[in-house]
Amino acid sequence: MEVEAPEDATADEIGEALQKRARWVHDHVHDAKRRFEHVLPREYVSGEQVLYLGRRYSLKVRLVPREQRSVKLKGALLEVAHDYVSADAVRARVRAWYRVKARDYFAYRLGVIANGLPWPQEVSSFQLKEMKTRWGSCAAGGTVTLNPFLVRANRECIDYVITHELCHLREHNHSPEFFRLLSRAMPQWQTVKRSLDDMAEVILND
Ligand SMILES: [Zn+2]
Repeated sequence: MEVEAPEDATADEIGEALQKRARWVHDHVHDAKRRFEHVLPREYVSGEQVLYLGRRYSLKVRLVPREQRSVKLKGALLEVAHDYVSADAVRARVRAWYRVKARDYFAYRLGVIANGLPWPQEVSSFQLKEMKTRWGSCAAGGTVTLNPFLVRANRECIDYVITHELCHLREHNHSPEFFRLLSRAMPQWQTVKRSLDDMAEVILND
């Protein structure tokens, strides 16, 4: 471990600074571990909690004849009617349902947000891609890619990711100018980003 210290710092001062730093690292690693401990592997059984647009729903798995298969929101339930019992099959059905919802909702929010931005928009197209470590990206050609699992987050978080990617249509990097644009479009983006990042393990748990 390398330590940078002012030339006139005493050994005691350096030692103290090092201890503070070690404490900080320990606390943060501990926080991260604790957050992961909350996230149990999904089983896709009745009673399990699922997220959609920031709200919690209870999964209900029902056995039906093959021709009656469906996935529907019913009040506080996400009801998956399927013709045989299998966590993998239910996971696939729920995942497909999220994709359909994500496509519709993201297209709607992209339109609303693009209209409200003060610079001309050239969203040539948008696509969905399941990603483990990213919410979205924006290619130089103008194609916006969004993670369908983001549809588990609330509207403000979704709007933040979309706004971030739309700012890349003007600034293709994370320059100070990029963050000026982002702050103008969404002044509270840092708070929203933090709440989204805090939920990342839960949202990406599939
Ligand atoms: Zn970016």
